[in-house]
Amino acid sequence: MKAARIQAYGQPLVLQDIPIPAPRPGQVLVRVRGAGICRSDLHVLSGEIPILPRMPVTLGHENAGFVAAAGPGVTGVREGDAVAVCGGWGCGRCDYCVVGDDQLCATPSWAGLSACDGGYAEYLLVPNEKYLVRLHGLDPRGAAPLTDAALTPYRAIKRALPYFQPDHGVLVIGCGGLGQYGIKLLRILAGSPIIAVDLDPAKRQIAICLGAAHALDASDPETAARILELSGGGVAAAFDFVGSEATLALAAGSTRSGGKVTQVGLAGGEARLRVRESIRWEVAFEATLWGNVKELREVVALAESGLLTPIEVEYATLDRINEVCQRLERGEVKGRVVVTP
Ligand code: NAD
Ligand code: ZN
Ligand code: ZN
Repeated sequence: MKAARIQAYGQPLVLQDIPIPAPRPGQVLVRVRGAGICRSDLHVLSGEIPILPRMPVTLGHENAGFVAAAGPGVTGVREGDAVAVCGGWGCGRCDYCVVGDDQLCATPSWAGLSACDGGYAEYLLVPNEKYLVRLHGLDPRGAAPLTDAALTPYRAIKRALPYFQPDHGVLVIGCGGLGQYGIKLLRILAGSPIIAVDLDPAKRQIAICLGAAHALDASDPETAARILELSGGGVAAAFDFVGSEATLALAAGSTRSGGKVTQVGLAGGEARLRVRESIRWEVAFEATLWGNVKELREVVALAESGLLTPIEVEYATLDRINEVCQRLERGEVKGRVVVTP
């Protein structure tokens, strides 16, 4: 089968012919119909996040498709079932895995972000059927982004819900794939007015279309003051889908006492809370990671009910993957690109 594999950091992906894996007991082979391209792939490809224990490895951690073959002992899915794949695979035994937060596993084996091959290939070997969420009405091609672009903000927002105050608004920094789903999910899960921030005017326009009350320019020196003014002295919750030094400072500086700053973006910035100077107290900070299988079930349910509608998706064949990665790098992707192997 064809697979887009990383050979070395800083090099483009290489299309290789590799054997189709055979599912062993408990494993499931999925015919990939959609594999979303996430900015985390760019961080890994460039070597900024050098987490791969071996190369070559097939990238692609945002996957959905059809069950092609089930290994002995698999009882929950059958050949032909449409499934979304929760990619945060774990050891199954550590403290995190036993409570279902496999994505936090002490020795993770994340799809396409570890020694385990991901979904930029015709087939994906899933280590356990528990990582599959059945799709009943959704086309797996379009559903792939639910497994990361939607799942990650879903977990981040759910964990911040106790901090929300509808009279003080929430902040969303970075309105790309994750940020756009973040805005949609905030509209569904919370009533708070949304202030969006992005460098790109096109993304700000999308944020307004998705229901943000305001969309501010990250490069405008007045933006920090404007957020405080619009939120009556600070937002109750800030979500940073960029994670640079500047955006983390904006998130922390925009959050009122008793609020919460959530870092999702992995641009490499350091978060600083300067309590004494900022006179904001009891602000919580958390960097959230992806989402678990139960949360993916909830996201899929929201999508199947029609409440959570897709962001703009563009489809590309596997042989165009490097070109698409470059376009994502340059900020030319409106929502998400899904590769269709
Ligand atoms: P994306 O490229 O689709 O979106 C990024 C957006 O941020 C773009 O709209 C861009 O214009 C905007 N932006 C860039 N710099 C900015 C700045 N300084 N101020 C304001 N806006 C700015 O990326 P994505 O796929 O949505 O991923 C977003 C981030 O989340 C990446 O760093 C990715 O690695 C990370 N991520 C983290 C997790 C997790 O579990 N924590 C999961 C998935 C992705
Ligand atoms: Zn991702
Ligand atoms: Zn584990």
